Order: sequence, then C-alpha cells, then structure tokens
Amino acid sequence: MSRELDPISKAIRIQNKKTVQKEHSTPLYLTSSFTFDDAETMRAAFADENDSNIYSRFSNPNVDEFVSKMCALEGAEDGFATSTGMSAIFSSFFALLKQGDHMICCSSVFGSTFTIVTKFFPRYGITCTLVPADDKDAWEAAVQPNTKMVYLETPTNPQIGIIDLEWAGQFTKKHNILLNVDNCFATPVIQRPIDFGADLVIHSATKWIDGQGRVLGGVIVGRAELVKDIYMFCRHSGPALAPFNAWVLSKSLETLDVRMERHSSNALKIAEALEQHPTVAWVKYPFLPSHPQYAIAKKQMKSGGGVLCFEIKGGAQAGARFLNALEMISVTANLGDSRSIAAHPSSTTHSKLTDQERISVGITPGLIRISAGLEKVDDIIADINQALAASQE
Ligand SMILES: *Cc1c(COP(=O)(O)O)cnc(C)c1O
Repeated sequence: MSRELDPISKAIRIQNKKTVQKEHSTPLYLTSSFTFDDAETMRAAFADENDSNIYSRFSNPNVDEFVSKMCALEGAEDGFATSTGMSAIFSSFFALLKQGDHMICCSSVFGSTFTIVTKFFPRYGITCTLVPADDKDAWEAAVQPNTKMVYLETPTNPQIGIIDLEWAGQFTKKHNILLNVDNCFATPVIQRPIDFGADLVIHSATKWIDGQGRVLGGVIVGRAELVKDIYMFCRHSGPALAPFNAWVLSKSLETLDVRMERHSSNALKIAEALEQHPTVAWVKYPFLPSHPQYAIAKKQMKSGGGVLCFEIKGGAQAGARFLNALEMISVTANLGDSRSIAAHPSSTTHSKLTDQERISVGITPGLIRISAGLEKVDDIIADINQALAASQE
C-alpha cells in the first residue's frame, strides 16, 4: 500500500499470510505444536534465532493475528494475548512487580482485580494504595519511593467514573511510574490510552471485542520492553489464549468500530430516557452533560461507550423486582454483547466485597448496570420502562 491505513482499516485488513488454498478468511490453526524440517532449525527456534512457531502456549498464528490487530488499534509496539481478561491483568502485575513494590490503584476497579490487589498482593509482599477515581490530591499523596505502577480503569466498572488520561499520563511520567490502563469499557475505537502516555493497556476481550458473548479472552499491549517481560512470565506460567478463541476475536475486530457506534448511540438514548424517569434517582453515562466528568469524557472519548448505570428508587428490593420484570433484556453476568444486559453489581460482581468496601467504591444497593445491545433502541427502552414501572409496585 502506498498509503498508511487508518488503525480501524488495519484491524480489518491485517491477516496471516495466505496458505496454498488462497483462502480469504484466515484458517483456524488448531495445533498444540509446530514441526521443524531439521534439528538445526529447531535448535535455532529455541534459541530465538528465528520466529518459527514452537508451541501454542507461547505462539500460534491465530493468536498472533489477533495481537497484531490489537497493537494497530491501540497504537502499541507489542502485545501478548491471554485466556481471559483476568489472566491479562494478573500477568501484567506479577510479571512486572516484585516483593517490596507498591502500586496505586483506582478504588473502583473490576471486582476480581480488587480481590487481587487486596487479597493476593499482601501474600507476595506487594503493597497497594486504593484511591478514589476523581481525587487527584489522593493520587499525589499516595506516591511512595517504591511505587512502580499506577493501575486504573476509565470508564470505571460499574459506576462509570471517568479518569483524566492526559493528567494520569503526566502524573505517572513526573514520578517515573508505569501507567497500566484497563481499556475494556471504552475499547480502542473510542479511546487510546497510549496516546495519553499509558505504558500498558489491558483488555478483557470477552466483552466488546468479542461482542457476542461467545468466548473468553484477554490481551496486554504496550511498550515492547515491558511486553517482553510479560511474554516470559506468560510463556512459563501458561495463561495462553486458545487458537479458536483468537480466531473468533480476530474476526470480531473487523466489526468493532461499527458495533461500538451503535452500542454508544443506543446507550446515550437509554441514558437520556432514564434521566427523565420518575423512578430513577440518577443516571451516569459519560456523554450525558450531567456526568461530573463530562468535559473530560468529551476530551478523551470518541463516543460514550455501551455501558451506563443508574440508581433505582427503592434500593435493593426495587433492583431485584426490576431484573425480574425484564422481558427482553438478559439478566446475566457479562457485558459487551449484541444483546442488552442488565446487572445488579451489589449482589453479583461485587458480592465478595464487604458492605464497607462496597460503599467505599460506590456500589449502592439500587445500582443497576445496563450494557446496551444492538437491538432497536425503542425496544430496549420499552422493556426498561415496563420493568421500572413493575419495580415500584
Ligand atoms: C470482565 C472484566 C474483566 C475481567 O475479564 P474476564 O475476561 O472476565 O477475565 C476485567 N476488567 C473489566 C473492566 C471487565 O469488565
């Protein structure tokens, strides 16, 4: 090509070299290992003197294609794909941190991430300070001489807080700390943390990247020298992404941009409708002008993304009645699907937290999270409206 393609076009056109069959869609390489023509080529492969595939725990053509597309989308030098989002997060921590290191972590992070930093870190001598998403003074005050990494999500799960990525990039540069960002909710077609100075970006590919609730997957992309250490950690500890899952995810990236446009426009219309509803105490969505960080969201995101949350009047009981009354929207522990999903975090994803921890990270009893699907938005809003009416009976 005479012209450098846009990252979104690259995610559609990057493809493994065609086989002799001249197929248009990449074949599935369901193989545990790869063969060598002779002992010398095999020796050289093990000595990293050539790029031959050896064993699918650390390299596979379907996985490599998926990673190349993710690097193009995020503007990253290199990456490694994992079996789940959690194994990506866990590996990025344990490959780069050691006993005696300190992390600063946004207090509102995915439930299992919270468990790793609060329950597992202490067993390995790693300390972690949790700071509220919107309190910049608390981030500054948390810095210690041994602080190695800042970890955050934006938008946060599930209360859709926004962290200023430009500020986070400058803050971590100033203190010489690695910036590791979970970009699951926005996806790279909406927001690219590396453009603001992130060193690593993590995804649960299970969510919007798959987009149809079929497979689990994760990926870490970022600076090549960091990914090298993560690769060694993963090569020997084994959280590899299955080739089949990689094939599904690579294909899904071809439609990510158009899907996210519709997810975002549906989510915005749902948020606007909820904001007018008498049974709803408040709604949070990045592109609603009422969002406290609306200006920051507008600065760093192309659209608001597919997730919104709201507080139903009547607390936990009304929340349960709302879920029970839904006729079309799915009640399931996932998000980022073509089918709209409703969830009640306090009784599910964040149930392992104590009441005190839940309140400190903003999980109120009546908090409902909606993952806007691709159905016609009038159908989604109609289902929400009838369930809201039922929730108050
Ligand atoms: C789901 C999720 C994860 C974990 O990903 P899995 O693929 O389920 O392991 C991490 N971060 C966020 C923001 C998520 O939504």
